[in-house]
Amino acid sequence: MVKSHIKSLLLFSILIIFVACSGIKNKSTKTEVSTSGISAKASRPNILFVLCDDLGYADVGFNGSNDIITPELDKLANGGTIVTSAYVTHPFCGPSRAGLLTGRYPHTFGSQFNLPKNSEVTVGEGIPLSEKFMSKMLQESGYYTSAIGKWHLGAVEGYHPNDRGFDDFYGFLGGGHEYFPSKFKLKYEKQKAAGVETIWDYLTPLQHNGTEVDETEYITDALSREAIRFVNDASKNEQPFFLYLSYNAPHTPLEAKEEDKKIFKNIKDDKRRTYAAMVYAVDRGVGKIVDALKASNQYDNTLIVFLSDNGGHTDKGANNYPLRGLKGDTYEGGFRVPMFFHWPKNVPAGKHYDHPISALDFYPTFAGLAGAKLPLDSKLDGKNIWNAFKAGDNPRKGENIFAMRHRNGYSDVGVRQDQWKATKAYKGPWKLYNIIMDISETTDLSSQFPKQLEDMVSKAEIWSKTHTEPRWFDPESLSEVWKEKEMAKFNKTFEIKK
Ligand code: CA
Repeated sequence: MVKSHIKSLLLFSILIIFVACSGIKNKSTKTEVSTSGISAKASRPNILFVLCDDLGYADVGFNGSNDIITPELDKLANGGTIVTSAYVTHPFCGPSRAGLLTGRYPHTFGSQFNLPKNSEVTVGEGIPLSEKFMSKMLQESGYYTSAIGKWHLGAVEGYHPNDRGFDDFYGFLGGGHEYFPSKFKLKYEKQKAAGVETIWDYLTPLQHNGTEVDETEYITDALSREAIRFVNDASKNEQPFFLYLSYNAPHTPLEAKEEDKKIFKNIKDDKRRTYAAMVYAVDRGVGKIVDALKASNQYDNTLIVFLSDNGGHTDKGANNYPLRGLKGDTYEGGFRVPMFFHWPKNVPAGKHYDHPISALDFYPTFAGLAGAKLPLDSKLDGKNIWNAFKAGDNPRKGENIFAMRHRNGYSDVGVRQDQWKATKAYKGPWKLYNIIMDISETTDLSSQFPKQLEDMVSKAEIWSKTHTEPRWFDPESLSEVWKEKEMAKFNKTFEIKK
């Protein structure tokens, strides 16, 4: 009798505590909503931008890979919307990232080449300071911001991520990095001891906000770990966060953990197998980051965007099927990349979105979601696609997405407009494809639709008038070739040979 009385009392107390706690919780939610102006999380999403490096179109499960498994990415992709026609601004790293973060074509501010190797020493430049990065825009509108991983946009003061709108930076400033600290540290120390003045930036120590760190983990795991650290940290703030998580995987050097390689025993080609394991390491990491988002109560209010900075390098383990070409090309395989949006209750789940989206669109779209005001003179090249995307409409009917890559004395160009794709590649003539019917760019329709091709080429020519001379070249020897061959030679580029 006494026992059961105590039991009832205990249950009653637990109930009281529970009700009290719910009250506190409701109260705190109310407080958050009531400050909904500039900083409340309730009205503005966190943005987690996951960027891979040189990831092929067919190298994720959600895009139909039949040998690489990416269960965590697939869960997000299938719980969100897979964007099948996502284009980056350039078919290789540096310019693509410059376009993504500035919201402008890199050619318009002279950044159409990669910053050369060890450029902090050799060039001392970076993406012009006249450009305001997306991170700066979000930071100014009250976001807590972090860049983790590869930077490649300038290493000296002024160009460092902390100077470009990132409160937090963990990673490396060059165009890539070796993956195993036990190996790269040895090489680095050896060169340092030998008095080598300029040690390759793939070997130099990683840093946290400008201070060298002694990293000990496989780099992909280290970047995932730091992303979790930032998510946990940011979740304690009232501010929403923006995390630019820039994995260097699966970019070369092809270096994977044995435990990940074991998963892909079925892949006989060692290059492909290592590459697959590198992609899988990203997938594992993203799974853990999602767990951290859930545990810190941020998952429902986080927009996750997944993208590759350019197409896969098919000689280095990647597969862009069914797209033609590879990294560096203006065929689809060069600049059309795997992508999805995920945001519970805000992004349609289990859908495919097939209209073309440009990496230029993220800047104005995120500004819209953040409620940030864009300056009238910002001259952004993309557009806020959010409403069109959610409605399944084409945000740029009749408009074009461009890519141009300068080669040794000539240029390649790609233009996408609705169902059409115009390409000029490897000194060949302009060709026109119906990219919806013919995703692999096999059947040239230029003689059947000459007016369509003329229209797209003339639009590309008008676009080229916004370009400026490259501020640097990679390799630097290309600057001589540029002068000798009187580049950019646009009159030749936009000639349609009948
Ligand atoms: Ca890349």
